[in-house]
Amino acid sequence: MYDIAIIGAGVIGGMTARELSKYNLNICILEKENDVAMGATKANSAIVHAGFDAKEGSLKAKLNVRGSLLMPAVCEELGVKYKNNGSLVIGFNDQDRETINELLKRGKRNGVEGLRIVEKQELKHMEPNLSDNVLCALYAPTGAIVCPYELTIAAIGNAMDNGVNLKRNFDVKSIETTAIGYKIKSKNDSVEVRFVINCAGIYSDEIAKLVGDDSFEVHARRGEYILLDKECGDVVSHTIFRTPTKMGKGILVSPTVDQNLLLGPTSVDIDDKDDKSTTQDGMGQIIENAQENLSFVSLSKTITSFCGLRAVGSTGDFIINSPKKQFINAAGIESPGLSASPAIAEYIIKLLSEQGLTLTKKQNYNPIRESVHKFFEASIDQKNKIIKDNPAYGRIVCRCEGITEGEIIDAIRRNPSACDLDGVKRRTRAQMGRCQGGFCGPYIAEILSRELGVPFENVTKFGGKSKVNIAKTKGGKIL
Ligand SMILES: Cc1cc2nc3c(=O)[nH]c(=O)nc-3n(C[C@H](O)[C@H](O)[C@H](O)COP(=O)(O)OP(=O)(O)OC[C@H]3O[C@@H](n4cnc5c(N)ncnc54)[C@H](O)[C@@H]3O)c2cc1C
Repeated sequence: MYDIAIIGAGVIGGMTARELSKYNLNICILEKENDVAMGATKANSAIVHAGFDAKEGSLKAKLNVRGSLLMPAVCEELGVKYKNNGSLVIGFNDQDRETINELLKRGKRNGVEGLRIVEKQELKHMEPNLSDNVLCALYAPTGAIVCPYELTIAAIGNAMDNGVNLKRNFDVKSIETTAIGYKIKSKNDSVEVRFVINCAGIYSDEIAKLVGDDSFEVHARRGEYILLDKECGDVVSHTIFRTPTKMGKGILVSPTVDQNLLLGPTSVDIDDKDDKSTTQDGMGQIIENAQENLSFVSLSKTITSFCGLRAVGSTGDFIINSPKKQFINAAGIESPGLSASPAIAEYIIKLLSEQGLTLTKKQNYNPIRESVHKFFEASIDQKNKIIKDNPAYGRIVCRCEGITEGEIIDAIRRNPSACDLDGVKRRTRAQMGRCQGGFCGPYIAEILSRELGVPFENVTKFGGKSKVNIAKTKGGKIL
């Protein structure tokens, strides 16, 4: 019996859970996957947008501007990397300049601080590797970058440390009305709750239909990316956008908080809500665009490609409402959902309070989540001390990123614990480097097997049937 169930452990469910964990409430998060941050939250551009793009007066605009203001403090409390690198929307011709002028006006009306147009000469100083064909740009100094899954894992971890319960592999199949609220069922489990918050991303329309709300639809829009090695992380320092079209903000070039270079996303509407494949067309489009934007980009430094699915709602705006008593939708949260997430959490709590939820602050709420030891970033003295306290930090498992066994064990033991290879990857960056787990994958599988007490052959990549076909070795021999 819970006061509140949050369906979906993406950035919206996670930030909402954390915000609600400040109050004396019994809360659970229901997630259909084996881990948190498995939907759009794990595959996006990672930009904290300044807020000039969304239509004036829309929820997207209001919550984006507020969210980007709140984000630095949230990241500080959660020990999550955040970089205020600023963004540039570049223009190549008169038509682009017209759009850029419109964005400047819209941004000012939305309340975005510090926006201005930058001309070619200044632009070349700011970004020497931009193409010579770029004429001007809209500069947004408040634009920033963050790691979306690191933020979500930390928000949910902090919520759990403050009493929230996470139920993984709970695929919501039905929701029945009861005398006090709702009974939510998966295939093998059920929970009774007073309030439901629907944060199910691309499936949020299907969850809403379970309580009879068919007022909106959500469809998938594919966005593919190419990720370049850390060697390329300083090719640009700002996030570089093309001028937007009705299909979105276009293909960008951006550094990541972990110093990689990100190229993408494409924008293609698709029918299948589970199709996260990358395509030859998509890769071609990204490469062509990146080569137009930059005077030089070394594509031989590509380390991986991936795809995220935008949850495009049928209303054109975020759908955050209460269609039924004690039921809240946070649906169709496409971009700028990550940027807006702290503000969306606040907005949902306001709706819950209007729905009759009593909010009394917890005496012992702790907003701080200590960041883990980042062994690679520590000084020699710090490293020696860490290893003395725990020798597992003296064993490097992921050579590309310099991640130790100590960090991997910590990720498996800490809320919300990593239960599979991808879970370790998102928490520690082990397998994120050039070899993409080719070298360290088997060692990590071994640590997972030992720590979770499961047979080695049952370790999965991302839960379910994704068992990894890794042979166990000893002394260079396959056992
Ligand atoms: C290509 C792309 C680029 C983007 N770039 C940016 C950007 O740069 N900046 C920005 O601000 N925003 C960006 N966004 C948007 C941002 O990623 C999303 O707004 C945000 O991640 C949405 O979070 P969410 O929690 O609503 O959804 P999700 O992260 O999709 O989470 C929904 C969760 O619900 C779970 N779920 C679904 N159905 C069920 C069920 N039946 N039972 C239980 N659980 C269920 C899913 O498994 C998932 O974990 C981008 C999105 C994409 C796809």
